[in-house]
Amino acid sequence: MTDSDLILQHDVPLKHLNTMNLEAYADDFCVVKTQEDLFRASQAYKQMVQSGKRPHVFTLGEGSNTVFAAKNITSFIIKMEYKGVTTVKETAEHVFVQCNAGEMFRDVVIKFCQNNLSGLENLSAIYGTVGAAPVQNIGAYGQEVRNCIESVRVFDISTGSFEDYTNSQCQFGYRNSVFKYQNGEKIIVSVVFRLNKEFKPILTYANLANRVQSCGTQSFTPLFISDTVTKIRNEKLPDPKIMPNCGSFFKNPVVSMEEYGRLLQSYGDIPSYEDKDGVKISAGWLIEKCGLKGVKLNGVGFHDKQALVLVNYNSNDAGTLLDFVKQTVQTVSQKFGIELIMEPHIVR
Ligand SMILES: Cc1cc2nc3c(=O)[nH]c(=O)nc-3n(C[C@H](O)[C@H](O)[C@H](O)COP(=O)(O)OP(=O)(O)OC[C@H]3O[C@@H](n4cnc5c(N)ncnc54)[C@H](O)[C@@H]3O)c2cc1C
Repeated sequence: MTDSDLILQHDVPLKHLNTMNLEAYADDFCVVKTQEDLFRASQAYKQMVQSGKRPHVFTLGEGSNTVFAAKNITSFIIKMEYKGVTTVKETAEHVFVQCNAGEMFRDVVIKFCQNNLSGLENLSAIYGTVGAAPVQNIGAYGQEVRNCIESVRVFDISTGSFEDYTNSQCQFGYRNSVFKYQNGEKIIVSVVFRLNKEFKPILTYANLANRVQSCGTQSFTPLFISDTVTKIRNEKLPDPKIMPNCGSFFKNPVVSMEEYGRLLQSYGDIPSYEDKDGVKISAGWLIEKCGLKGVKLNGVGFHDKQALVLVNYNSNDAGTLLDFVKQTVQTVSQKFGIELIMEPHIVR
């Protein structure tokens, strides 16, 4: 029996492995739970390459930012379930914790908060795995994960070797990092988070600040902020188990000051935030202004309370969903001259 016999599976259903609940089957699939599994997956991949097949490699976490765009997925799907959390270093100010990629990000955030370690509390209750968090530099409520990442360990499936990236080598940006542009052969196996011992709440996001202040306490803990963020999220966002979705479907576009000035002339009420590259515009507002909030077509549509959340109400067909997305992009472009960019990753 070879390594690939041990790990490779075929025609694996993926419907329960993506929060959009799209029906798809993986031609080649494996689950990685240990370091040995990583080497087995690498062997299996090398055998595929030797036999003349060089599939695109797609590492799958919880599938909460993924759209399976075909019924038959020909990419080699590597489902990351490698778990483990270890404290690797402590200084007077920080604790450094290594989390393996298959851990659920929301679970490790709760554990940190329970131990009074802060930094990630504003990112509570975000779907997905630790391994996916650096890929799009997840962010919410005035915080981004990059601010707490010390380093990221990557496994190259084509060479079977490991490489460590420092924070600056990750080239983080708004919903962006170097990992988005590498071919799928690089798999994130662990992330070292740098957590603060002293707690300074991040209350730059008005909605969170108001909610926290309305509680009338001044002695905030990371767990209190985490609970508050979780409550706000639960009120605002549809649960993917009931209404399949990927969270925000489009990035908030960043426009130049000049472009922003042009928009302001016609739309004085446009919600915007300062950004180091220009001005960030609310994509949800753009969609709403096009009259698309709450609109459903062929089983997919924008949520009636959150225009940025695209819900798969009852479509099994990624084609229908992607047609709807294309029409939305065109409508917004025609009205505002702004190209919306999808946040989820398309895989075929
Ligand atoms: C209800 C809801 C709310 C959300 N809210 C937010 C939010 O507030 N902020 C935010 O930023 N995001 C949000 N998201 C999006 C999503 O939670 C994040 O993008 C998350 O990091 C995706 O994790 P995942 O494990 O599900 O990734 P997947 O969907 O499985 O994968 C996403 C991408 O990461 C890559 N990837 C996954 N694991 C690895 C790995 N180990 N190595 C290399 N590449 C990997 C995949 O190949 C793919 O390109 C939300 C999603 C939902 C459903």
